[in-house]
Amino acid sequence: MRILIVEDDPMLGDGMQRGLKLMGHAVDWFRTGADADRAVSAMHYDAVLLDLGLPDQDGVTLLSRWRTQGRQTPVVVLTARDAVQSRIGGLDAGADDYLIKPVDLDELAARLRAVTRRTAGMPEPVWRHGPLEYHPAARLAVWRGKSVDLTSRESMLLELLLAHANRVLTREFLRDKLDRKSTRLNSSHTDISRM
Ligand code: CA
Repeated sequence: MRILIVEDDPMLGDGMQRGLKLMGHAVDWFRTGADADRAVSAMHYDAVLLDLGLPDQDGVTLLSRWRTQGRQTPVVVLTARDAVQSRIGGLDAGADDYLIKPVDLDELAARLRAVTRRTAGMPEPVWRHGPLEYHPAARLAVWRGKSVDLTSRESMLLELLLAHANRVLTREFLRDKLDRKSTRLNSSHTDISRM
């Protein structure tokens, strides 16, 4: 995906840019609303990460203008933990989602996948088993409403168990499937970069 970051905080902007590039995305980073305006006019972006407190203009105003102009690019606004009003302002102005600073890169990636999937008109698939929810695209597990951190091997194991729910699986079966899955995963970097 091509992603536009609009953020004047150098540490946060740099961190997000590096992280998203490592995930295989093309990233442009600008620090002012004026530069962001020029960028969205000149280039197609799959998603925008928009800080609401920019040095030259209010992110909410910028976003409202884009929506008035008919720009439908998915936008995730970045706000401070206690800035409930600006978060609401951002959502009302047409943001698709928000993230609270400091931004966690895995969460950022998951939100980006979610907003781009929504705009592509594809509902997010969710696997459910009792009180467990699993979002395969984001590799996110939620147990009784709380997200659970999983390593990639653990999430592969969980996928296997969910795909064969209520069945007894042997250790050999699991080991064989996991090893095949991780080989596939290691050789599929091009797929990841196309997300
Ligand atoms: Ca700021």
